[in-house]
Formats: sequence, C-alpha cells, structure tokens
Amino acid sequence: MNTKIWLSSPHMGGTEQNYIKEAFDANWIAPLGPNVNGFENDLERYLGQDKNVACLSSGTAAIHLALVQLGVILNDEVICQTFTFCGSSNPIAYQGATPVFVDSESETWNMCPKHLETAIKDRISKGIKPKAIIIVHLYGMPSKIDELLKVALKYKIPVVEDAAEALGSTYKGRQCGTFGDFSILSFNGNKIITTSGGGAMVCNTEEDKKQTIFYATQARDNASHYEHSKIGYNYRMSNISAGIGRGQMEVLDKHIGLRRDMNAFYVNLFKGVKGVEVQKQPNSDFYSNFWLSCILIHADAPFTKAQFQSVMEDANIETRPLWKPMHMQPVFEGALYFGDKLSEGLFKKGLCLPSGSNLEQKDLDRITKVVNDLL
Ligand SMILES: *Cc1c(COP(=O)(O)O)cnc(C)c1O
Repeated sequence: MNTKIWLSSPHMGGTEQNYIKEAFDANWIAPLGPNVNGFENDLERYLGQDKNVACLSSGTAAIHLALVQLGVILNDEVICQTFTFCGSSNPIAYQGATPVFVDSESETWNMCPKHLETAIKDRISKGIKPKAIIIVHLYGMPSKIDELLKVALKYKIPVVEDAAEALGSTYKGRQCGTFGDFSILSFNGNKIITTSGGGAMVCNTEEDKKQTIFYATQARDNASHYEHSKIGYNYRMSNISAGIGRGQMEVLDKHIGLRRDMNAFYVNLFKGVKGVEVQKQPNSDFYSNFWLSCILIHADAPFTKAQFQSVMEDANIETRPLWKPMHMQPVFEGALYFGDKLSEGLFKKGLCLPSGSNLEQKDLDRITKVVNDLL
C-alpha cells in the first residue's frame, strides 16, 4: 500500500528542537519562559500594526477569552459565521450565550456583509443587540473585511476575528489577524504552522494583552497568596510548545509559498475539466495562504463528488468535505440563522484536497494519476 497523503500534516523546519533543547537546558518547562516571550515577539513583528500577542493553549481558548473580555454572558446573543469549524462557535455556548448564525457570500465563502446587516437589524428590532460578531477567514481566504467592519462599526458591535486558518494571508496588504477588536490564531497540528497544539490572542493594546494573560492564568489578583475576584482559566501556552512555534516562524513564509504552489497545481490539474472549480482569490485585494486547497464539484462535472472521494480513498489520498455549516449541526439545532443557504451548497459540493507544504513531486504525481484515470 502507498503511504497516506494527508490534507495537511505538521511540517517541521528543522530548528524547532534547538529552542526546545534550550528550554530543557534552562529548566524552563513551566508555562512561561523565554520561548513564550520570543514567540509572542516573533508574531508581533510578523503581524505588524503595533499588535500585542498573548500565546494560549488553543485557538478555541482564544475565542473564549475574547468573548469573556467583551463581556458576553448568559443569554447574550453573539453573531457567528455559520460556515466554519466548531472552534469558532462553541465558546459562545461556554458563556451560556446564544449563537446567531450568518451565511457566506460566494466570492470568499466567508460571512456575507448583507446577511450580517439583516441579522443585526432583526435582532435589534426584537430588542436584543448582539454582543459580538465572530468573522472567519476560512481555508486561509480573507473575508470581505472592509465591508464587514463597516457594518460592525455602524451598529457599534465589536468584532472577534478568527484567523485560525489565515496566518500569513493578507487583505489589501494587511495581515489577517490584525483587523478585530480581538483576533485569534491557531497552531493546532494541521494548521499552517503548529506548536503541536496552541493558539494566540492578538490584542490592540498592552492592557488587553495583560488582561488576556490574567484570565489565561487562573485570574490571580495582585497578592502574595492566591487571591481571586474573577473566574479564570488555565489557557496559557507552555514554553516547550512556544519553542516549536519559534522554529516554525522561521519557515512560515516559505511554507505559505509551497501551499500556494499546491493551489496552482490544482488549478492546472483541473484546467479544462468542466464543472470542477478550484477556490480562487476574488481579486488582488485578497491574498490567501491557501492553507487548504478546495474544489467544488458541480452537477455538470464528468464525475460526482462521491466518485472522486472514493477513488482518492482507494489510492490512500485524504480528502474531506468542506465544513458542515453550524446551523445544520445537531448541537445547534433550532439556532437562529440568516442567509440563503449558500454554505449548504458549498458543503454539498465541496472537498478539501491534500495541501501540505511537505508534499513531494511523487505525491503530486499520484494525485495527478488518480484524477487522470478517473477522467
Ligand atoms: C482550528 C480552528 C479553530 C480552533 O483552533 P484550535 O487551536 O484547534 O482550538 C477555530 N476556528 C477555526 C476556523 C479553525 O480552523
């Protein structure tokens, strides 16, 4: 059997172990230390815009702490892109708040500014102003940020920017992860860079960063004993994980280049195949890291999605349907939803394809052969 070709597997650059060795040598194994500070500095430098970064245990933890700091509490409503991974929306439930799901537009597959405004108007007309808006840059594709922020600003609702999949993507030349009142990143094992598990909060002020770290380290008040006037969480990143992150930062841009090459490979592979559409950037304002390359298989394609999935599986090549929209998930049954079912169509027609920066020519040849045999 051929070895498995994964959608996206960890790709080490080579220097990660040096940072970990330093941590061991200095006995900085606790969840603080020079690698955490170093990784935060690296991210701040990379993102620009004078941001303040706090490294956390996961991207989901970062979204949770963003909602905590925006004052989201029991029975509040929070607007969230429906076409996303559950890490974007579950923290709404952690706070006992209610999600209001908003559908996507067809160009970036991210939140539609028009549906967003419809949702806000509806909720305000019912006397419930949403406490926050969670926007996502799915698969690395920047959302229509200017238009979304304009709506958010008009109604004065803070934005949590979920850039978990979009580190290194830019919108009008500015890094994703720098547009929100709070923005979050993920370094989970399958993301564009990994710390084996981790995330970060990107804050606008030093004060927000301090507050994020306060909540992420059990909310200890200023006292020599353990004094608490708030509920905190154990969400800080360890110095070992941060060491992996520092090594990964050295190869981030190179790996983005390789992911973008993967996207170009698929554009070429499906060139001239009627009914198969590779996700693309709408125009030069949108620069995607192409974390995952995705295709839509329309009704006029020469094969069905099921046929394609099946031949790929037989060849030991991973594919995966696009995210199942949150308003279709059993756990969010009955949740409010505003849209025109675009995301349901994407879910029905779409697949993610192997996109890792560590794929080799022989992997591409295997994928090419499977597709050509099917055609
Ligand atoms: C991965 C991901 C998250 C959560 O990040 P974790 O680090 O896995 O908790 C949130 N949102 C999106 C869109 C993601 O892809």
